[in-house]
Amino acid sequence: MSRVLIVEDEEIIAELEKDYLELSGFEVDVLPDGEAGLKAALDNNYDICILDVMLPGIDGYEICRQVREVKNMPIIMVSAKKEDIDKIRGLGVGADDYMTKPFSPSELVARVKAHLARYDRLVSSAKEANEIIEIRGIKIDKTARRVFVNGEEKIFTTKEFDLLTFLASNPNHVFTKDELFKEIWDMESIGDIATVTVHIKKIREKIEYDTSKPQYIETIWGVGYRFKM
Ligand code: CA
Repeated sequence: MSRVLIVEDEEIIAELEKDYLELSGFEVDVLPDGEAGLKAALDNNYDICILDVMLPGIDGYEICRQVREVKNMPIIMVSAKKEDIDKIRGLGVGADDYMTKPFSPSELVARVKAHLARYDRLVSSAKEANEIIEIRGIKIDKTARRVFVNGEEKIFTTKEFDLLTFLASNPNHVFTKDELFKEIWDMESIGDIATVTVHIKKIREKIEYDTSKPQYIETIWGVGYRFKM
């Protein structure tokens, strides 16, 4: 049974989400404030997190950022304010999806299922392949979803890891930003091709010795990117 964490301070909304998810067979915990929510997300093995943006204590952005440092589970952010969506994108906090309140609980259930299925596919395909990619000082353990640069582990968000792994699995192939966006963000997801640029920048900061002269992920001007073998 998949475990869902809801961090939501509006009791009526939290109960509605919980009821629908439980009816669909999920095990659900609800926490009403930021600190307890963050602690629960970090201390337990939830399969997915539904995170309100405006919370007492620590806000949803900060929770998302901190959880993403150490967890790969899908995170859906919810907010009553449309402006928050731009902020979720702009901050690059690592959310997988967002929903604007009010939304239908069945839509939420559908998205939770879709994200869990997608995450399972990612994890199980990595397991089947059981591959470790090693290219000039970079080691990507697809199974454990860990990355080492010259022996030192670097922490990647889910999408950064997926993007790096995809590029490194197809070395010397030039991909357009559109292709990369479709490959990595393949469902109704936040962001657009600018998201790809942001993620490439973050990956380079972690793997490149000099980000102004990338040795691994090259920019092919006017086309896209390629991982140099
Ligand atoms: Ca709230």
